[in-house]
Amino acid sequence: MSSPVAGSVHRKIHGRLVIATHNAGKLREMRELLAPFGIEANSAAELGLDEPEETGTTFAANARLKAQAATTRTGLPAFADDSGLSVEALGGEPGIYSARWAGPDRNFTRAMELVEAKMRALDAVVPARRTAHFVSALCVAWPDGHVEEFAAAVAGQLVWPPRGDQGFGYDPMFLPDGLDKTFGEMTSEAKHGLPPRGRGLSHRARAFIKLAEACL
Ligand code: IMP
Repeated sequence: MSSPVAGSVHRKIHGRLVIATHNAGKLREMRELLAPFGIEANSAAELGLDEPEETGTTFAANARLKAQAATTRTGLPAFADDSGLSVEALGGEPGIYSARWAGPDRNFTRAMELVEAKMRALDAVVPARRTAHFVSALCVAWPDGHVEEFAAAVAGQLVWPPRGDQGFGYDPMFLPDGLDKTFGEMTSEAKHGLPPRGRGLSHRARAFIKLAEACL
């Protein structure tokens, strides 16, 4: 397995790519990020690939595990994101378990209620006690074992009740620092905040900008 070190040459992405996710919200965002680069992408779900068990203990390890499972199965380079919400008052939870807090039926209304109930139990009601960040770890894996990895975060505060019906997951309760709309109240263009108008807003877009500079 090879992984680039600082100053080394990154491997460029050419041709077809598999997006190693079964999460519809993430798939849409990953396709939107790749679209301007003309990369043709199929999702793991479209190709009928199983979802590997996420046994890693970090976002980076789980992103690598998903990308490597998809590249091994297809022989194509594969792109994966592992991401989640980390709430400071909850010691970083739900973190890598962000999807699991929504249960088998992926009920994010319930997941947000669970976060809110745990914060209230700790009396985390004033804004200064409600800080959180989203994290995204991205990995592109090739069949020969080469990987490229990038990560980024966006800081904000959790609001209650949730606001907006755009985006996915915990977006309606996440208010990014310095802005007055939650991710759930933003168009996906605003949530990405990409150049030339922005410098990247969401965790995923910020990590993607690093990936694009290195590999696209
Ligand atoms: P996984 O990376 O597939 O294990 O799941 C990550 C989970 O974190 C998602 O199911 C969402 O609940 C949450 N998450 C990750 N990124 C975002 C985001 O951009 N908005 C809202 N929720 C997110």
